[in-house]
Amino acid sequence: MPVYQTVKEMTGALAAARRGGLSIGLVPTMGALHEGHASLIRAACAENDYVVVSVFVNPTQFAPAEDLSAYPRDLEKDRRLAEAIGARAVFAPSVEEMYPEGDSTWVEVGGRLTGLLCGRSRPTHFRGVTTVMTKFFNIIRPDRTYFGQKDGQQAQVMRRLLTDLFLPVELKILPIVREKDDLALSSRNIYLSEDERRAALVLSRSLKEARGRLENGERSRAAILDGLKNAVQSEPLAVLDYAEIYNFPDLGETGAELSGQVFIGLAVKFSRARLIDNIVVDLG
Ligand code: AMP
Repeated sequence: MPVYQTVKEMTGALAAARRGGLSIGLVPTMGALHEGHASLIRAACAENDYVVVSVFVNPTQFAPAEDLSAYPRDLEKDRRLAEAIGARAVFAPSVEEMYPEGDSTWVEVGGRLTGLLCGRSRPTHFRGVTTVMTKFFNIIRPDRTYFGQKDGQQAQVMRRLLTDLFLPVELKILPIVREKDDLALSSRNIYLSEDERRAALVLSRSLKEARGRLENGERSRAAILDGLKNAVQSEPLAVLDYAEIYNFPDLGETGAELSGQVFIGLAVKFSRARLIDNIVVDLG
């Protein structure tokens, strides 16, 4: 299976696929592929004839102090995994290919959606994501694109982008894939020390506790948030970045009494990694 590194090569291969009447699926990733990515590629291969997995560590979505240079990279391993599942191409352009000299256009979803949750701790992050994704959509012109609920806010930002720009791409959002002990899979989990790996279970554990309390009839937003914050703060190796509750899927504000579908999101910092996780609970 080919790895295309230039826009010209990629669009050439896609033109041939399109002439053959093939439907096109795009799975955007930053590489270091794991079972979470594999679930997206599998879904894409089930629903499209020609699946492109993009592997691009996008510099514009990292802030200067973040882990851009340390981010794990293993293109050959990613290529083998994508091929084994049935993808037809990997698109792995260089930074210069995606942002050639003179590049100066940003695509930004404005409003409150990109200012809350991860947008508060990473104010320039979503602008980088939506800019590079618009480029990918224009290069690949997929029929469908696949995102993980792991990055639940990103998936909703993507929905906004596609809707607002009338981009003819169907958005598919797939469930979070977890380790056996419930830690959400993430390329950044490799940054954790052994002790931090154990401590990182505080994310899924506290979210499950919150779900349990809601299932037992608790409806107070403040009580659920207090429970989450206390759980994270009782873990000495973890530093709470945020714990928030919003309506799902639009991430609108909830009332003091929770109802309907709610999104509970957590971000927690460890010495070298910032991890995120979330659950959606349907309160009817
Ligand atoms: P990344 O390479 O981390 O930028 O992620 C690429 C895509 O894979 C995004 O749509 C993520 O939401 C998705 N993804 C990452 N981890 C998981 C996971 N554990 N379960 C499901 N999807 C995931």
